[in-house]
Amino acid sequence: MKFSDRILNINPSATIAVGAKAKALKAQGFPVLSMSVGEPDFTSPECANKAGIEAIKRGESHYTLNNGIKELRDAVSAYYNKRFGLSYKPTQIFISTGAKAALYESFGVLVNPGDEVIIFTPAWVSYKEIIKSFGGKPVMVDTLSTNFLPTKEAIEAVITPNTKGILINSPQNPTGAVYPRDTLLMIAEVVREHDLWVISDDIYERLVYEPHSFLTLLQIAPDLYDQVIMINGASKSYAMTGWRIGYAVGPEDAIKMINKFASHITSNASSIAQWAALGAVENGDDDVQYMLTEFTKRRTKILDLLSEMPYIQVREPEGAFYVLVDIRNCPISDDMIFATQLLEKKYVAAVPGTAFDAPGYVRFSYASSMDTVVECMKRLKEFLEEME
Ligand code: PMP
Ligand code: GLU
Repeated sequence: MKFSDRILNINPSATIAVGAKAKALKAQGFPVLSMSVGEPDFTSPECANKAGIEAIKRGESHYTLNNGIKELRDAVSAYYNKRFGLSYKPTQIFISTGAKAALYESFGVLVNPGDEVIIFTPAWVSYKEIIKSFGGKPVMVDTLSTNFLPTKEAIEAVITPNTKGILINSPQNPTGAVYPRDTLLMIAEVVREHDLWVISDDIYERLVYEPHSFLTLLQIAPDLYDQVIMINGASKSYAMTGWRIGYAVGPEDAIKMINKFASHITSNASSIAQWAALGAVENGDDDVQYMLTEFTKRRTKILDLLSEMPYIQVREPEGAFYVLVDIRNCPISDDMIFATQLLEKKYVAAVPGTAFDAPGYVRFSYASSMDTVVECMKRLKEFLEEME
Protein backbone atom coordinates (compact mmCIF):
# COMPACT_ATOMS: atom_id res chain seq x y z
CA MET A 1 0.00 0.00 0.00
CA LYS A 2 1.23 3.50 -0.76
CA PHE A 3 0.60 5.92 2.06
CA SER A 4 -0.20 9.60 1.86
CA ASP A 5 2.49 12.26 2.13
CA ARG A 6 0.43 13.59 5.04
CA ILE A 7 0.96 10.55 7.24
CA LEU A 8 4.51 9.87 6.06
CA ASN A 9 5.39 13.42 6.95
CA ILE A 10 4.45 13.20 10.63
CA ASN A 11 6.21 11.50 13.54
CA PRO A 12 4.51 9.16 16.01
CA SER A 13 3.79 10.52 19.50
CA ALA A 14 6.99 9.99 21.51
CA THR A 15 5.17 10.26 24.85
CA ILE A 16 2.81 7.48 23.86
CA ALA A 17 5.68 5.43 22.37
CA VAL A 18 7.81 5.58 25.56
CA GLY A 19 4.76 4.69 27.66
CA ALA A 20 4.05 1.69 25.43
CA LYS A 21 7.68 0.52 25.58
CA ALA A 22 7.60 0.70 29.40
CA LYS A 23 4.37 -1.32 29.51
CA ALA A 24 5.78 -3.94 27.11
CA LEU A 25 8.95 -4.39 29.20
CA LYS A 26 6.85 -4.65 32.35
CA ALA A 27 4.66 -7.30 30.73
CA GLN A 28 7.86 -9.30 30.05
CA GLY A 29 8.54 -9.28 33.79
CA PHE A 30 11.10 -6.45 34.07
CA PRO A 31 10.73 -4.23 37.18
CA VAL A 32 9.88 -1.15 35.13
CA LEU A 33 8.59 2.02 36.76
CA SER A 34 7.27 4.79 34.60
CA MET A 35 7.58 8.53 34.92
CA SER A 36 6.94 8.91 31.22
CA VAL A 37 3.31 9.54 30.32
CA GLY A 38 1.60 12.56 31.84
CA GLU A 39 -1.29 10.74 33.38
CA PRO A 40 -2.51 11.12 36.99
CA ASP A 41 -2.33 7.82 38.88
CA PHE A 42 -5.63 8.65 40.64
CA THR A 43 -8.82 7.06 39.41
CA SER A 44 -11.59 9.41 38.33
CA PRO A 45 -13.59 11.14 41.10
CA GLU A 46 -16.51 9.29 42.66
CA CYS A 47 -18.89 12.05 41.51
CA ALA A 48 -17.83 11.38 37.90
CA ASN A 49 -18.08 7.59 38.25
CA LYS A 50 -21.54 7.87 39.80
CA ALA A 51 -22.78 10.21 37.06
CA GLY A 52 -21.40 7.85 34.40
CA ILE A 53 -23.02 4.77 35.97
CA GLU A 54 -26.35 6.59 36.34
CA ALA A 55 -26.17 7.60 32.68
CA ILE A 56 -25.65 3.97 31.66
CA LYS A 57 -28.60 2.88 33.80
CA ARG A 58 -30.81 5.64 32.39
CA GLY A 59 -30.01 4.35 28.90
CA GLU A 60 -27.97 7.31 27.67
CA SER A 61 -26.58 5.09 24.97
CA HIS A 62 -27.42 7.13 21.90
CA TYR A 63 -25.77 9.81 19.82
CA THR A 64 -25.91 13.15 21.57
CA LEU A 65 -25.92 16.52 19.84
CA ASN A 66 -22.75 16.66 17.75
CA ASN A 67 -21.35 19.48 19.90
CA GLY A 68 -22.17 17.69 23.17
CA ILE A 69 -24.99 17.49 25.69
CA LYS A 70 -26.43 20.89 26.57
CA GLU A 71 -26.05 20.13 30.30
CA LEU A 72 -22.27 19.79 29.99
CA ARG A 73 -21.92 22.85 27.75
CA ASP A 74 -24.01 24.81 30.28
CA ALA A 75 -21.76 23.60 33.10
CA VAL A 76 -18.58 24.51 31.19
CA SER A 77 -20.07 27.91 30.40
CA ALA A 78 -20.82 28.47 34.12
CA TYR A 79 -17.30 27.31 34.99
CA TYR A 80 -15.66 29.82 32.61
CA ASN A 81 -17.79 32.56 34.05
CA LYS A 82 -17.04 31.71 37.67
CA ARG A 83 -13.35 30.91 37.30
CA PHE A 84 -12.25 33.49 34.72
CA GLY A 85 -15.10 36.00 34.57
CA LEU A 86 -15.46 35.13 30.86
CA SER A 87 -18.83 34.90 29.21
CA TYR A 88 -19.51 32.07 26.75
CA LYS A 89 -22.88 30.80 25.54
CA PRO A 90 -23.33 27.02 25.27
CA THR A 91 -23.16 27.46 21.46
CA GLN A 92 -19.59 28.72 21.96
CA ILE A 93 -18.48 25.44 23.50
CA PHE A 94 -17.65 22.20 21.69
CA ILE A 95 -17.28 18.96 23.64
CA SER A 96 -14.60 16.80 22.02
CA THR A 97 -13.14 13.31 22.29
CA GLY A 98 -10.30 14.43 24.55
CA ALA A 99 -8.43 17.73 24.38
CA LYS A 100 -6.26 16.28 21.61
CA ALA A 101 -9.25 16.09 19.26
CA ALA A 102 -10.24 19.66 20.21
CA LEU A 103 -6.74 20.78 19.23
CA TYR A 104 -6.80 18.79 16.00
CA GLU A 105 -10.18 20.21 15.05
CA SER A 106 -9.19 23.76 16.03
CA PHE A 107 -6.02 23.71 13.93
CA GLY A 108 -8.03 22.04 11.17
CA VAL A 109 -10.44 24.96 10.90
CA LEU A 110 -7.68 27.60 11.06
CA VAL A 111 -4.64 26.33 9.17
CA ASN A 112 -4.32 26.58 5.37
CA PRO A 113 -1.39 24.94 3.55
CA GLY A 114 1.64 27.20 3.91
CA ASP A 115 0.35 29.01 7.01
CA GLU A 116 2.94 29.47 9.73
CA VAL A 117 2.02 28.84 13.36
CA ILE A 118 4.33 29.89 16.18
CA ILE A 119 5.02 27.40 18.94
CA PHE A 120 7.18 28.03 21.99
CA THR A 121 9.62 25.18 22.53
CA PRO A 122 10.19 22.99 24.45
CA ALA A 123 6.65 22.02 23.50
CA TRP A 124 4.31 19.09 23.81
CA VAL A 125 4.89 16.53 21.05
CA SER A 126 1.58 16.74 19.18
CA TYR A 127 1.27 20.43 18.23
CA LYS A 128 3.83 20.38 15.49
CA GLU A 129 2.60 17.12 13.98
CA ILE A 130 -1.04 18.30 13.96
CA ILE A 131 -0.07 21.57 12.24
CA LYS A 132 2.02 19.67 9.69
CA SER A 133 -0.85 17.30 8.98
CA PHE A 134 -2.87 20.28 7.70
CA GLY A 135 -0.01 21.46 5.49
CA GLY A 136 0.90 24.23 7.94
CA LYS A 137 4.40 25.11 9.00
CA PRO A 138 5.16 24.98 12.73
CA VAL A 139 7.65 27.74 13.54
CA MET A 140 9.54 27.09 16.74
CA VAL A 141 10.58 29.86 19.11
CA ASP A 142 13.08 28.40 21.53
CA THR A 143 12.74 29.34 25.21
CA LEU A 144 15.52 27.16 26.65
CA SER A 145 17.83 30.10 27.20
CA THR A 146 15.09 32.48 28.40
CA ASN A 147 13.86 30.61 31.45
CA PHE A 148 11.21 28.70 29.43
CA LEU A 149 9.39 31.97 28.68
CA PRO A 150 9.19 33.51 25.19
CA THR A 151 10.51 37.01 24.57
CA LYS A 152 9.09 39.63 22.23
CA GLU A 153 12.36 39.85 20.25
CA ALA A 154 12.39 36.09 19.65
CA ILE A 155 8.77 36.07 18.47
CA GLU A 156 9.15 39.08 16.22
CA ALA A 157 12.26 37.57 14.66
CA VAL A 158 10.20 34.72 13.16
CA ILE A 159 7.10 36.63 12.07
CA THR A 160 6.54 36.69 8.30
CA PRO A 161 3.53 37.59 6.13
CA ASN A 162 2.57 33.90 6.38
CA THR A 163 2.35 33.91 10.18
CA LYS A 164 -1.28 33.27 11.06
CA GLY A 165 -1.40 32.11 14.66
CA ILE A 166 0.30 31.34 17.95
CA LEU A 167 -0.09 28.37 20.24
CA ILE A 168 0.16 29.06 23.97
CA ASN A 169 0.35 26.32 26.59
CA SER A 170 0.49 27.36 30.22
CA PRO A 171 1.06 25.57 32.57
CA GLN A 172 3.40 24.15 30.02
CA ASN A 173 4.15 20.59 29.04
CA PRO A 174 7.06 19.62 29.38
CA THR A 175 8.62 22.54 31.33
CA GLY A 176 5.95 23.18 33.99
CA ALA A 177 6.33 26.91 33.32
CA VAL A 178 3.31 29.06 34.12
CA TYR A 179 3.24 32.23 32.02
CA PRO A 180 3.24 35.35 34.21
CA ARG A 181 1.06 38.38 33.45
CA ASP A 182 3.93 40.22 31.74
CA THR A 183 4.56 37.41 29.28
CA LEU A 184 0.85 37.21 28.46
CA LEU A 185 0.65 40.99 28.02
CA MET A 186 3.59 40.81 25.63
CA ILE A 187 2.01 37.95 23.65
CA ALA A 188 -1.28 39.90 23.48
CA GLU A 189 0.61 42.89 22.08
CA VAL A 190 2.20 40.77 19.33
CA VAL A 191 -1.17 39.17 18.53
CA ARG A 192 -2.77 42.62 18.16
CA GLU A 193 0.08 44.06 16.12
CA HIS A 194 0.12 41.19 13.64
CA ASP A 195 -3.58 40.28 13.78
CA LEU A 196 -2.99 36.64 14.68
CA TRP A 197 -5.27 33.98 16.06
CA VAL A 198 -4.38 32.14 19.26
CA ILE A 199 -4.99 28.62 20.43
CA SER A 200 -4.57 28.61 24.19
CA ASP A 201 -4.11 25.08 25.50
CA ASP A 202 -5.12 25.49 29.14
CA ILE A 203 -5.47 21.78 29.92
CA TYR A 204 -3.28 22.05 33.07
CA GLU A 205 -4.90 25.24 34.41
CA ARG A 206 -6.05 23.61 37.68
CA LEU A 207 -2.56 22.29 38.40
CA VAL A 208 -0.63 25.33 39.60
CA TYR A 209 1.48 25.36 42.78
CA GLU A 210 1.45 28.13 45.36
CA PRO A 211 2.41 30.95 45.36
CA HIS A 212 1.93 30.90 41.57
CA SER A 213 -1.40 31.39 39.91
CA PHE A 214 -2.92 30.87 36.51
CA LEU A 215 -4.14 33.53 34.12
CA THR A 216 -5.63 32.77 30.75
CA LEU A 217 -4.79 35.23 27.96
CA LEU A 218 -8.32 36.64 27.69
CA GLN A 219 -8.36 37.69 31.34
CA ILE A 220 -5.66 40.24 30.60
CA ALA A 221 -6.57 40.91 26.96
CA PRO A 222 -10.38 40.70 26.69
CA ASP A 223 -10.26 42.65 23.41
CA LEU A 224 -8.86 39.49 21.76
CA TYR A 225 -12.09 37.58 22.47
CA ASP A 226 -12.80 36.97 18.77
CA GLN A 227 -9.28 35.69 18.07
CA VAL A 228 -8.77 33.10 20.80
CA ILE A 229 -9.86 29.47 21.10
CA MET A 230 -9.24 27.94 24.54
CA ILE A 231 -8.69 24.21 24.93
CA ASN A 232 -9.48 22.47 28.17
CA GLY A 233 -10.94 19.18 29.38
CA ALA A 234 -11.42 16.54 32.03
CA SER A 235 -8.23 14.50 31.49
CA LYS A 236 -5.78 16.29 33.78
CA SER A 237 -7.91 18.31 36.22
CA TYR A 238 -10.17 15.40 37.13
CA ALA A 239 -7.84 12.47 36.39
CA MET A 240 -10.21 11.30 33.64
CA THR A 241 -7.72 10.52 30.85
CA GLY A 242 -9.48 7.34 29.72
CA TRP A 243 -12.93 8.91 29.45
CA ARG A 244 -11.69 11.14 26.58
CA ILE A 245 -13.50 14.41 27.20
CA GLY A 246 -12.08 17.76 26.13
CA TYR A 247 -13.58 21.09 25.19
CA ALA A 248 -12.94 23.96 22.83
CA VAL A 249 -14.27 27.33 24.00
CA GLY A 250 -14.22 30.34 21.70
CA PRO A 251 -15.98 32.69 19.32
CA GLU A 252 -19.24 31.39 17.91
CA ASP A 253 -18.04 31.26 14.26
CA ALA A 254 -14.96 29.18 15.17
CA ILE A 255 -16.93 26.74 17.31
CA LYS A 256 -19.47 26.34 14.53
CA MET A 257 -16.63 25.40 12.14
CA ILE A 258 -15.17 22.96 14.67
CA ASN A 259 -18.62 21.40 15.02
CA LYS A 260 -18.89 21.05 11.24
CA PHE A 261 -15.40 19.49 11.00
CA ALA A 262 -16.01 17.10 13.90
CA SER A 263 -19.34 16.00 12.40
CA HIS A 264 -17.24 14.13 9.82
CA ILE A 265 -14.62 12.82 12.24
CA THR A 266 -15.78 11.67 15.67
CA SER A 267 -19.37 13.00 15.75
CA ASN A 268 -20.20 13.55 19.43
CA ALA A 269 -17.85 12.52 22.22
CA SER A 270 -18.95 9.39 24.14
CA SER A 271 -22.40 10.03 25.64
CA ILE A 272 -21.61 8.24 28.92
CA ALA A 273 -18.27 10.03 29.27
CA GLN A 274 -19.99 13.40 28.78
CA TRP A 275 -22.38 12.67 31.66
CA ALA A 276 -19.46 11.53 33.83
CA ALA A 277 -17.58 14.75 32.99
CA LEU A 278 -20.68 16.73 33.96
CA GLY A 279 -20.54 15.07 37.38
CA ALA A 280 -16.89 16.14 37.68
CA VAL A 281 -17.38 19.72 36.50
CA GLU A 282 -20.35 20.20 38.86
CA ASN A 283 -19.10 18.36 41.93
CA GLY A 284 -15.39 17.62 41.51
CA ASP A 285 -13.78 20.67 43.15
CA ASP A 286 -12.85 18.80 46.35
CA ASP A 287 -11.28 16.03 44.27
CA VAL A 288 -9.24 18.58 42.30
CA GLN A 289 -8.08 20.10 45.57
CA TYR A 290 -7.13 16.71 46.98
CA MET A 291 -5.11 15.79 43.88
CA LEU A 292 -3.41 19.17 43.80
CA THR A 293 -2.34 18.69 47.43
CA GLU A 294 -0.89 15.29 46.55
CA PHE A 295 0.91 16.62 43.45
CA THR A 296 2.30 19.43 45.60
CA LYS A 297 3.85 16.88 47.97
CA ARG A 298 5.33 14.91 45.06
CA ARG A 299 6.68 18.07 43.48
CA THR A 300 8.41 19.08 46.72
CA LYS A 301 9.83 15.57 47.11
CA ILE A 302 11.13 15.21 43.55
CA LEU A 303 12.75 18.66 43.59
CA ASP A 304 14.37 17.77 46.89
CA LEU A 305 15.72 14.47 45.61
CA LEU A 306 16.90 15.95 42.29
CA SER A 307 18.79 18.67 44.13
CA GLU A 308 21.04 16.00 45.68
CA MET A 309 22.11 14.51 42.35
CA PRO A 310 25.32 15.15 40.43
CA TYR A 311 25.61 16.80 36.98
CA ILE A 312 21.98 17.77 36.49
CA GLN A 313 20.12 21.06 36.74
CA VAL A 314 16.46 21.81 37.22
CA ARG A 315 14.27 24.88 36.87
CA GLU A 316 11.41 24.53 39.33
CA PRO A 317 8.10 23.88 37.59
CA GLU A 318 5.25 26.15 38.68
CA GLY A 319 2.48 23.99 37.29
CA ALA A 320 1.44 20.72 35.57
CA PHE A 321 3.24 17.58 36.78
CA TYR A 322 6.48 17.53 34.84
CA VAL A 323 10.11 18.29 35.62
CA LEU A 324 12.38 18.90 32.66
CA VAL A 325 15.85 17.91 33.82
CA ASP A 326 18.89 19.47 32.15
CA ILE A 327 21.40 16.65 31.52
CA ARG A 328 23.81 18.61 29.32
CA ASN A 329 26.59 18.40 31.94
CA CYS A 330 26.29 14.62 32.38
CA PRO A 331 28.91 12.26 30.93
CA ILE A 332 26.00 10.96 28.83
CA SER A 333 24.57 14.23 27.58
CA ASP A 334 22.63 12.84 24.61
CA ASP A 335 19.06 12.63 25.89
CA MET A 336 18.07 9.78 23.57
CA ILE A 337 20.95 7.61 24.83
CA PHE A 338 20.34 8.78 28.41
CA ALA A 339 16.64 7.81 28.36
CA THR A 340 17.32 4.49 26.61
CA GLN A 341 20.02 3.50 29.11
CA LEU A 342 17.97 4.67 32.09
CA LEU A 343 15.20 2.37 30.94
CA GLU A 344 17.42 -0.57 30.02
CA LYS A 345 19.78 -0.41 33.01
CA LYS A 346 17.56 0.95 35.79
CA TYR A 347 14.09 0.25 34.42
CA VAL A 348 12.96 3.85 34.75
CA ALA A 349 10.92 5.24 31.84
CA ALA A 350 11.22 8.97 31.10
CA VAL A 351 10.80 10.93 27.86
CA PRO A 352 13.89 12.28 26.03
CA GLY A 353 13.73 16.05 25.57
CA THR A 354 14.37 15.76 21.83
CA ALA A 355 10.70 14.74 21.53
CA PHE A 356 9.80 18.23 22.80
CA ASP A 357 12.52 20.06 20.83
CA ALA A 358 14.65 20.15 23.96
CA PRO A 359 17.73 18.05 23.21
CA GLY A 360 19.93 17.63 26.29
CA TYR A 361 16.92 17.43 28.61
CA VAL A 362 14.79 14.55 29.93
CA ARG A 363 11.19 14.88 31.13
CA PHE A 364 9.98 13.14 34.28
CA SER A 365 6.25 13.08 35.04
CA TYR A 366 5.44 13.08 38.76
CA ALA A 367 1.81 12.20 38.12
CA SER A 368 2.85 8.72 39.29
CA SER A 369 2.49 7.65 42.94
CA MET A 370 4.83 8.97 45.64
CA ASP A 371 6.39 5.49 46.03
CA THR A 372 7.13 5.39 42.29
CA VAL A 373 8.59 8.89 42.35
CA VAL A 374 10.88 8.06 45.29
CA GLU A 375 12.04 4.72 43.85
CA CYS A 376 12.66 6.23 40.39
CA MET A 377 14.72 9.03 41.90
CA LYS A 378 16.77 6.47 43.85
CA ARG A 379 17.47 4.62 40.60
CA LEU A 380 18.22 7.86 38.72
CA LYS A 381 20.73 8.84 41.39
CA GLU A 382 22.49 5.48 41.10
CA PHE A 383 22.45 5.80 37.31
CA LEU A 384 24.10 9.21 37.49
CA GLU A 385 26.65 8.12 40.10
CA GLU A 386 27.65 5.10 38.02
CA MET A 387 27.97 7.19 34.86
CA GLU A 388 31.46 7.70 33.44
N1 PMP B 1 -2.46 19.29 25.67
C1 PMP B 1 -1.38 18.98 26.40
C2 PMP B 1 -0.39 20.05 26.70
C3 PMP B 1 -1.18 17.68 26.86
O1 PMP B 1 -0.11 17.40 27.59
C4 PMP B 1 -2.12 16.67 26.53
C5 PMP B 1 -1.83 15.26 26.93
N2 PMP B 1 -2.82 14.66 27.57
C6 PMP B 1 -3.24 17.05 25.77
C7 PMP B 1 -3.38 18.36 25.35
C8 PMP B 1 -4.29 16.07 25.36
O2 PMP B 1 -5.19 15.77 26.38
P1 PMP B 1 -6.29 14.63 26.23
O3 PMP B 1 -5.76 13.43 26.92
O4 PMP B 1 -7.52 15.19 26.88
O5 PMP B 1 -6.49 14.39 24.78
N1 GLU C 1 -0.01 14.54 27.19
C1 GLU C 1 0.54 13.48 27.99
C2 GLU C 1 2.06 13.49 27.89
O1 GLU C 1 2.62 14.43 27.42
C3 GLU C 1 -0.09 12.15 27.61
C4 GLU C 1 0.41 11.48 26.35
C5 GLU C 1 0.06 12.28 25.13
O2 GLU C 1 -1.12 12.35 24.81
O3 GLU C 1 1.00 12.86 24.58
O4 GLU C 1 2.70 12.59 28.32
